[in-house]
Amino acid sequence: MSEPDKFIEELTDFRHRLHRQPELSGQEVKTAAIMKQFLAERGPREMIEGLGGHGLAAVFSAPDNRPGPVVMLRAELDALPLDESPDSPWPSEHLGCAHKCGHDGHMAILAGVACRLQKSPPSCGSIILLFQPAEETGAGAAALLADPNFRALKPDWIFALHNLPGHPAWNILTRPGAFAAASVGVKIHLRGSTCHAAYPEQGNSPDLAMAELVMGLVNLSDDADEALALVTVVHARLGDGRFGEAGFGISPGEAEIMSTIRADQDEVLQHLKAKTADLAREISMNHGLKCEVEYCEEFPVTMNDAEAVEIIRQAAQELNLEVESPGESPFHWSEDFGFLTAWTSGAMFGLGAGTRYPALHGPDFDFNDDLIFPGIQILERICRRSLSR
Ligand SMILES: [Zn+2]
Repeated sequence: MSEPDKFIEELTDFRHRLHRQPELSGQEVKTAAIMKQFLAERGPREMIEGLGGHGLAAVFSAPDNRPGPVVMLRAELDALPLDESPDSPWPSEHLGCAHKCGHDGHMAILAGVACRLQKSPPSCGSIILLFQPAEETGAGAAALLADPNFRALKPDWIFALHNLPGHPAWNILTRPGAFAAASVGVKIHLRGSTCHAAYPEQGNSPDLAMAELVMGLVNLSDDADEALALVTVVHARLGDGRFGEAGFGISPGEAEIMSTIRADQDEVLQHLKAKTADLAREISMNHGLKCEVEYCEEFPVTMNDAEAVEIIRQAAQELNLEVESPGESPFHWSEDFGFLTAWTSGAMFGLGAGTRYPALHGPDFDFNDDLIFPGIQILERICRRSLSR
């Protein structure tokens, strides 16, 4: 086996090892430890642990400490609260948790970059490999930015890739400006009063209010014409879920509706948040109910810097990789990388995983190992081009 083949085979095995040991957002203790051990053997100048939780950074600098730009590459440590079939060739060993977004693959790619940096260190400046916690909940990047140890690393450039099923394998997808949507989860709790189902008039069930609210929320999506302004109802429950199954003899006194708002501009997201809360309050008032609105998992728009996108384009061209501008404008999914590109210049890009490849977050998804090699190559070239600016 040739040297490069052996290198990729080792990284592929490493990816499978990470895949078997997934951890949920904010709980990435073992994953960070596995990464730390791998990176420590690649001779970084410095390693910083415990960033914004279990985040980890490995700093590789020019051997003579020649000054120059600082370039940061980001991968994510966390997996999703999903089950995986035991028939997978490298099944998750943790029930209810699996790498169904390919973060194991992104980590393997950065591990490969670390191997390359050991052999050929940066000519000037530094390259920082960042393994961030809790990307899936949107909490990780915000926690990093609240951590002075992370802020002290402030790079001149930051880049991240995400594998993207549904696009030709190895294609690079990027664009300047909005790349991934802003989003926020909204939980609406309606409270009336419980009573015997034989005498519903003695209580106040939120049944009609809940039905009106579901329709009203779905219709909020229609307000914008071209732009992305989407409200998706993701969960609705009538009755008090704390005590298990509802009884046929009880007229419920509570309801909970959860929805996700997505928008291509942060201002549109804020506007939809306000409209959602107004709608919930108006409907509950009409029905004599109490109402609480709670927001969670908020992601800003991921804005790509134009010059950073140009660096990605040039790196892709050097490798003869096709560069595509995403058809969706921006992608409807969200990424907490937006917090980081709001902090410093940077850009994110998609790496096509195959047009028919199983979708992210789906039960059949497993990272496409054929992306490890091109992932390393393009990130290496992006670093080199950024350092020479
Ligand atoms: Zn992801």
